[in-house]
Amino acid sequence: MPEAAPIGLLGGTFDPVHHGHLRLAEEAREALALQEVRWIPAGQPPHRQPPRADAAHRLEMVRLAIAGNPHFALDAAEAQAAGPGYTVPTLERLCAAEGGRPLVLLMGADVFRGLEAWHRWRELFDLAHIGVATRPGFAIDPADMPPDLAAACRGRLADDPGALRAASAGRVVAFTMTPLAISASLLRARLAAGLSARYLLPDAVGEYIQTHRLYRSPDGR
Ligand code: ATP
Repeated sequence: MPEAAPIGLLGGTFDPVHHGHLRLAEEAREALALQEVRWIPAGQPPHRQPPRADAAHRLEMVRLAIAGNPHFALDAAEAQAAGPGYTVPTLERLCAAEGGRPLVLLMGADVFRGLEAWHRWRELFDLAHIGVATRPGFAIDPADMPPDLAAACRGRLADDPGALRAASAGRVVAFTMTPLAISASLLRARLAAGLSARYLLPDAVGEYIQTHRLYRSPDGR
């Protein structure tokens, strides 16, 4: 039975990374007693439009954003891979590398509700736990989930983060985080309109965006 503190994994497009992502990672680490959070920027995400900034820029912005936090680390493999990145192969790689230490896939409640669209999504539960960030006062309720997801979660929902140490995979634990209505799309829209993104993302990321003239035109152009 695993004893070691679990490792959190935060995948995303990070186009660009912002304080919503950073608080998600920080609050997950505290609430779920994680050893660390690995940030995994996507290369070419399979479920959505191509990112605006290329993978090398998004990787560098995450590197700048997490610098100085000893509990955060960067996993560049998906961003540096040629084809579309899928989470199941990433988890298989990390499971093999971490030798049985539990992994906790972190995500916002919005992303969790759409889990059925992920490639080989049912296998996720064999490879990792899932930590879902919710707004205070909102639990994850199977009655509000798509039926297949609710069925897959039956018997997996746990209130106690200790459940993440007691098994190597397969539990779903919600944790509340400070609500921050920041999204990368909102930031891209602000930047394209020539508006300030200051205080919504780390200063170093803002400076990087300026230096490299990223997000100067609206999405889709
Ligand atoms: P976009 O606006 O382009 O869809 P995003 O800001 O949602 O992007 P992603 O890279 O798609 O960023 O998200 C990565 C993860 O971070 C997802 O699990 C998402 O739910 C979570 N997340 C994003 N923004 C926030 C936020 N403000 N608060 C909590 N979680 C967030």
